[in-house]
Amino acid sequence: MSLFSAVEMAPRDPILGLNEQYNADTNPNKVNLGVGVYFDDNGKLPLLQCVQAAEQAMMEKPAARGYLPIDGIAAYDAAVKGLVFGADSEPVKSGRVATVQAIGGTGGLKIGADFLKKVSPNAKVLISDPSWENHRALFSNAGFEVGTYAYYDPTQRGVNFEGMLASLNAAEPGTIIVLHACCHNPTGYDISPEQWDQVIAVIQAKGLTPFLDMAYQGFGYGIKEDGAVIDKFVAAGLNFFVSTSFSKSFSLYGERVGGLSVLCQDKAEADRVLSQLKIVIRTNYSNPPTHGGAVVAAVLSNPELRALWEKELGEMRVRIKAMRQKLVDGLKAAGVQQDMSFITTQIGMFSYSGLSKDQMVRLRNEFGVYGTDTGRMCVAALNSKNIDYVCQAIAKVM
Ligand code: PMP
Repeated sequence: MSLFSAVEMAPRDPILGLNEQYNADTNPNKVNLGVGVYFDDNGKLPLLQCVQAAEQAMMEKPAARGYLPIDGIAAYDAAVKGLVFGADSEPVKSGRVATVQAIGGTGGLKIGADFLKKVSPNAKVLISDPSWENHRALFSNAGFEVGTYAYYDPTQRGVNFEGMLASLNAAEPGTIIVLHACCHNPTGYDISPEQWDQVIAVIQAKGLTPFLDMAYQGFGYGIKEDGAVIDKFVAAGLNFFVSTSFSKSFSLYGERVGGLSVLCQDKAEADRVLSQLKIVIRTNYSNPPTHGGAVVAAVLSNPELRALWEKELGEMRVRIKAMRQKLVDGLKAAGVQQDMSFITTQIGMFSYSGLSKDQMVRLRNEFGVYGTDTGRMCVAALNSKNIDYVCQAIAKVM
């Protein structure tokens, strides 16, 4: 009898499982719309020019790899603050933002969740219905009871906003509300600026704790435009959490570059919060890795490289939007009667296609087109070569 004889096999990660199935598929026309990764028009994962330029400069002056501070590279944390709140904003200037470098956006969420468990151990967490699957697992594993607030309305093809407000209104004071700052994953439906105002009013009135997950800044309408929601929370005088991910916006998935920012009442409070975030990090993995953070800090703090990054990110955003339009046009041309124009009202990397599980399974088995069973497709993996095939395949299962 071994110590592990009673250990059960954990279920496979649904998306990574889909990837394995895709890799094993021998269909020469196969298309992977499962995983949330941006590919260029040649179906390749891009290595951004701004990243290459920063790495080139780093290679010319090779540096030894000492430990980083627990909270990461100071210039990186400053760059994250600048991006999220604005470098000249009141919260940044007054020093009331505590920011740490994190291992991807996931790491930022995890540090925030562990810290929250210390400061409000009895709080509940609400995530959107549906949400990025890891939100539930991550907050549950941090010891929280996780519920949902209403979000997606399949009949309206959009956000059930009345339902969302009702869920928030019914939440107990102190409940942690995980919100997608922009480019909602998986649905692709965001709420409008006016709706954000109403959400913020309820959060304020009910004393809820907002946790904004910003994994796609720049993929919606622009870096500044997507960040505008943060300004609204600041203007409302709220204390809140923001996790940042550069996985997609810098195409640095494997470097695990992200962050966590906590907006506090004043600098003294931010100093105390930072000291506690550092304990969470220290007791989990001690300190973050060097390379990805150094690259992002170099790009964001150099005006030329930053402009190049904004241009490259803009090109990704524009290409995704063009693919949405091509998808709508292509489905019509392939004979789909139903109005599919909702695809262009969605934003970010994903589209909730409205296809059923059966249709998604047929797409996979008969055509080698891989999306999740929920009907989610990654529009950022469509390109001028695979779009017609995908449209034909979808038309055949509809
Ligand atoms: N939040 C959301 C909503 C995401 O979609 C993702 C990435 N799929 C993350 C967080 C995590 O990002 P990272 O890969 O940087 O950990």
